[in-house]
Amino acid sequence: MNAPAPAPQPKDWIMGIAPYVPGRSTTDDGRKVAKLSSNENPLGTSAKAVTAFDAANVSLSRYPDASAVDLRAAIGAQYGLDPARVIYGTGSDEILHLAAGAFAGQGDEVLFVRYGFSVYEIAARRVGAVPVIAPDRDYATDVDALLALVTPRTRVVFVANPNNPTGTYSPREEIARLHAALPADVLLVVDQAYAEYLDVTELDGAFELAMTASNVLVTRTFSKIYGLAAERIGWGYASAAIVDALHRIRAPFNVTAAGQNAAIAALADSDFVDLSRAHNAQWLAWFTDQVGAMGNFGLRAIPSRANFLLVIFEGKLTAENAYKGLMDRGYIVRWLPGQGLGQGLRITIGTEAEIRGVATALRAMAEAAG
Ligand SMILES: *Cc1c(COP(=O)(O)O)cnc(C)c1O
Repeated sequence: MNAPAPAPQPKDWIMGIAPYVPGRSTTDDGRKVAKLSSNENPLGTSAKAVTAFDAANVSLSRYPDASAVDLRAAIGAQYGLDPARVIYGTGSDEILHLAAGAFAGQGDEVLFVRYGFSVYEIAARRVGAVPVIAPDRDYATDVDALLALVTPRTRVVFVANPNNPTGTYSPREEIARLHAALPADVLLVVDQAYAEYLDVTELDGAFELAMTASNVLVTRTFSKIYGLAAERIGWGYASAAIVDALHRIRAPFNVTAAGQNAAIAALADSDFVDLSRAHNAQWLAWFTDQVGAMGNFGLRAIPSRANFLLVIFEGKLTAENAYKGLMDRGYIVRWLPGQGLGQGLRITIGTEAEIRGVATALRAMAEAAG
């Protein structure tokens, strides 16, 4: 027997990562069906953003603007923020990785909630940090549980608000309470990927905190309400010192030229955003009521403020069977047993026809299961 040939060995902490599982777009037998598994905008993309994306002034042989000057200016104007303190990324996923990469390393702890966004654990492990997971309060973020797990090794706390995959929302007072109790040298990342689905009066105040606090990073994305998931553009806002650290490790040309153009146009198209928010509010409420009416079959809706609903199955119809049954009927939703959520399905609020179809299918399956 020959000894195995030497080969590069990945770091232990890299092999400890459970790979990210994206939402599916085809069934087991390869059919293309309604995709309600990735929280994309069912209304598509602003026509103005599509036009900007298509505008032929992008020279394919040239690198995009590495400083994203126009995009940062547009974000600053839209949200009343200092453009110099806006960081941008290949999706907000990149910014979450930058946060862990710049502020945590081997031996450090990165804290987040059970049933949190799966990228947090990957971002922590990638840099050799230890992921620390706080228990939930009936699927919602429990600020006291997070605070109870803060140690001198805690370097970053990730909170998605609204949270994915639960859709739960922590109001402004809860985020303020979390921030006030955290040591000043712990970075609080408030991931607002779904914030545009809320009314501005309901926002959690994280931008205001980030304006003055030295330890708050707020992240946003163009992938959800803005309908630009394909172009991978996210951004964040924090102190000048935090943003400086993140810039040092981001990829040099991390946002495409066409994507920057499209994002600027998407920001300006408030009609499309308003329409998307109203569509979601209407059909999220409708679908939540429908699931509520299936309580006698053990179905339960976790109250959501995002563009999806987490449905818990506690009766004869299991989440796994509902997942398979929905797939047979042409709907792909998200079943997350790998995240300890084998009892739930996360269902994106699709078009009216899609979400009505899902509700009808769930009721038929629940009644058949008895
Ligand atoms: C979808 C999502 C993101 C990010 O998406 P990008 O496409 O990388 O911008 C970030 N956080 C949460 C909680 C999400 O659900």
